[in-house]
Amino acid sequence: MKISREKWSSNFSEWFDWVISQAEIYDYGRYPVKGSGVWMPYGFKIRQNVTNLIRKLLDDTGHEEVLFPLLIPEGLLKKEGEHIKGFEKEVFWVTHGGEEELEEKFALRPTSEVAITLMESLWIKGYTQLPRKFYQIVSVFRYETKATRPMIRVRELTTFKEAHTVHETFEDAAKQVDEAVEIYSRFFDILGIPYLISRRPEWDKFAGAEYTIALDTIMPDGRALQIGTAHHLGQHFTKAMDYKVQRADGSHVHPHQTSYGISDRVIATLISINGDDHGPILPPVVAPFEAVIIPIPGKTDEDTEKINRYAGEIESTLKTNGIRVTLDASEDKTPGEKYYIWELKGVPIRIEVGTRELNAGTVFLKRRDTLEGKAVKKDDLIKEFRNLEDQISADLRKRAWEQFRERVKRFQNLDEAKKFLDNRGGIAEVPWCGQDSCGLKIEEEVQARVLGAPLKPEPSGNCVVCGKPSTNILRIAKTY
Ligand code: ZN
Repeated sequence: MKISREKWSSNFSEWFDWVISQAEIYDYGRYPVKGSGVWMPYGFKIRQNVTNLIRKLLDDTGHEEVLFPLLIPEGLLKKEGEHIKGFEKEVFWVTHGGEEELEEKFALRPTSEVAITLMESLWIKGYTQLPRKFYQIVSVFRYETKATRPMIRVRELTTFKEAHTVHETFEDAAKQVDEAVEIYSRFFDILGIPYLISRRPEWDKFAGAEYTIALDTIMPDGRALQIGTAHHLGQHFTKAMDYKVQRADGSHVHPHQTSYGISDRVIATLISINGDDHGPILPPVVAPFEAVIIPIPGKTDEDTEKINRYAGEIESTLKTNGIRVTLDASEDKTPGEKYYIWELKGVPIRIEVGTRELNAGTVFLKRRDTLEGKAVKKDDLIKEFRNLEDQISADLRKRAWEQFRERVKRFQNLDEAKKFLDNRGGIAEVPWCGQDSCGLKIEEEVQARVLGAPLKPEPSGNCVVCGKPSTNILRIAKTY
């Protein structure tokens, strides 16, 4: 793994590897299981803050957290044929217990639809118990055969936030998919991550779903990354497992279900979207430390001691006010070396205190995003700090959306779209008649992936394949 400093805009892939290793976020490629990474303490804190955020959004909307076993018996996993076909080649199997071969092998959960449906059928018998919304935050395993990539394409997805819901009717489940998309939109808005919402094409929906809605963002290298999906499962699983609930009129029907999930890609995105050549810029809302205090030694040991005491006071003022802060008082590094490290870790605000600040009763606040600084009075610190954080969050969001919008372009013919995609431009939108055959043709011609169509149709011009009037646009991108 390269450890030299890399350029964010022109050398993104190397930049990403450099950041996650040098900022001690995620140790990838050294643990002896391909496609598995280790969350290091600093990365774990980011992950935890992100997890807490989505947990709160789910809890607040009536979702109940559960925890299912990691192992799924083969017979159970194969209950829904279409579904397992979609995952067949990606399942890890447990075949032995000690020295004995198991009578029935177990899958390491690739996803949880069948397992959860089984228990729902035991817990939920009638319409009065519906709807019911569960979620769990667990590892899922996929035997990826494509080249793996830290956090983005792995074999153990360590923080899969998967929700599963049950409903009486198709319409109720459809509304739930809408709610899921709303929750995810809110989540990414809080994090300042831009996205497009698309209905995945028929040929690329989740195995065993009526339809799939996905959220995609664009990474700095111009490739699209799927960051969230929501599926209307219809009665596929409840029929396969013959699970029925009683309705108000006494009749029994197979209930409808949805499932939706977000993976560790959120963190890959979070680190990447707001980056520069110094490293990532973490939004204050999920940064492990909202600020780092760096004391600048004085001319004498006595001065330095006074400055350190002053820095300690600043630290406790911030902590008392609930601000996550760390004081870097290590003596083996110069202030310049500390700046380098904490910029690389993406801490949104740096607080410098030296002789000048001590004498004036001020601190110097430096923004990570613009690298601009200003002196503020110690008495005004909390107010000024909060204002600055709000400003940073707003500016990061604005910057990310501006960059994103510039990378979504509409074309009236495929050649231009192809050129744009080959140059890693971002997401191309082209007019489409609505037929799958034309969509597949587009994928083939531009050698990129169709992400899908906007939920609200945006007809414009003629289909780029057959020339018939368009009913919508299709979004295409190079993907991970
Ligand atoms: Zn067409």
